[in-house]
Amino acid sequence: MSRKALITGVTGQDGAYLAELLLNKGYEVYGMVRRSASPEAMLERLRWIGVIDRVNIVLGDLLDLSSLIRVVRDVQPDEIYNLAAQSFVGASWDQPHLTGSVTALGVTNILEAVRIEAPKARFYQASSSEMYGRVQEPIQSETTPFYPRSPYAVAKMYGHWLTVNYRESYGLHASCGILFNHESPLRGLEFVTRKVTDAVAQIKLGKADKVELGNLDAKRDWGHARDYVDAMWRILQQDTPDDYVIATGRTVTVREMCDIAFKAAGLNYEDHVVVSEKFFRPAEVDILLGDPAKAKNAFGWEPTTTLEQMMTEMVQADLKRHGG
Ligand code: NDP
Ligand code: GDP
Repeated sequence: MSRKALITGVTGQDGAYLAELLLNKGYEVYGMVRRSASPEAMLERLRWIGVIDRVNIVLGDLLDLSSLIRVVRDVQPDEIYNLAAQSFVGASWDQPHLTGSVTALGVTNILEAVRIEAPKARFYQASSSEMYGRVQEPIQSETTPFYPRSPYAVAKMYGHWLTVNYRESYGLHASCGILFNHESPLRGLEFVTRKVTDAVAQIKLGKADKVELGNLDAKRDWGHARDYVDAMWRILQQDTPDDYVIATGRTVTVREMCDIAFKAAGLNYEDHVVVSEKFFRPAEVDILLGDPAKAKNAFGWEPTTTLEQMMTEMVQADLKRHGG
């Protein structure tokens, strides 16, 4: 009998790539979605990646414990990937309470549903490098202390420690992946890489001339979502639950990332990028740089896509979307 996986946040970037990966491995995949007035738009990523007809859609919301209990009871999954969140740092200052409710307390709800209805299932929590915030060590690993710098990061810390706590309190097979930024053609348009590649495509096709960005000096360790969902799966295949950093070990500035993206379309970013105060944040995470050695040693995970390859893939996808 094939294994059953339940993915919360299946309509997001990682949800689509993870659904594809698990289907290719022969899993029966259940994707939890919240009710929407625009279901077609909501399922767009699953359609783009070509798995829409093979994912079993179930209705639930991280804010609604009874819906989660029902979903976990009905599906009886072997593995649960909790990817659902209010995931955009910028929006977390505009909606701090909602971010805390979904991204922090939502983890309590799904863990309770698992503890009550499927205590033998393996559970993955999507923790974030944003928890390192004002970094306490130049290269961040599983032992680096956290110092969150946004309501989003504070909420992710709650979810992280609650997952550790349920592992220790109830013996759940619950693990956290502390994933550094990962992108793809399916990244949300508000995140800086996708905002840039979408602008590159529009500029190349003569539909726009400028793109407004905020802090160009921030540095990020950017990898490809396809590689990172593979790490999620590997984390849950370990006999003993544990927490792992997933990163590339290379950090570049937003400015350098722009240079790479514009060059991929034969353009010079200096002709088109305008800095706007509007996109600066109340508190910034200046630099993130992860050490994925523990994951490499435990299960041989390594990134397979360079930043240059990924930005080129994203620019090409956006050119196609804009009719190029
Ligand atoms: P996305 O923003 O693309 O997807 C978020 C998903 O969460 C969407 O499917 C969204 O559904 C769903 N969601 C939001 N609120 C609720 C709710 N109340 N109940 C149920 N579902 C909800 O995020 P990513 O795919 O990029 O990231 C996946 C996870 O990994 C997130 O938890 C994110 O915080 C975390 N993460 C991401 C990193 C990255 O660089 N991408 C880095 C580290 C961690 P809807 O379509 O209805 O809005
Ligand atoms: P984050 O690391 O999860 O916050 O991912 P983002 O892609 O949203 O932001 C990465 C970095 O890019 C942060 O340091 C932002 O301040 C910086 N940045 C600069 N300009 C922009 C912009 O216009 N939009 C976004 N989202 N980020 C920007």
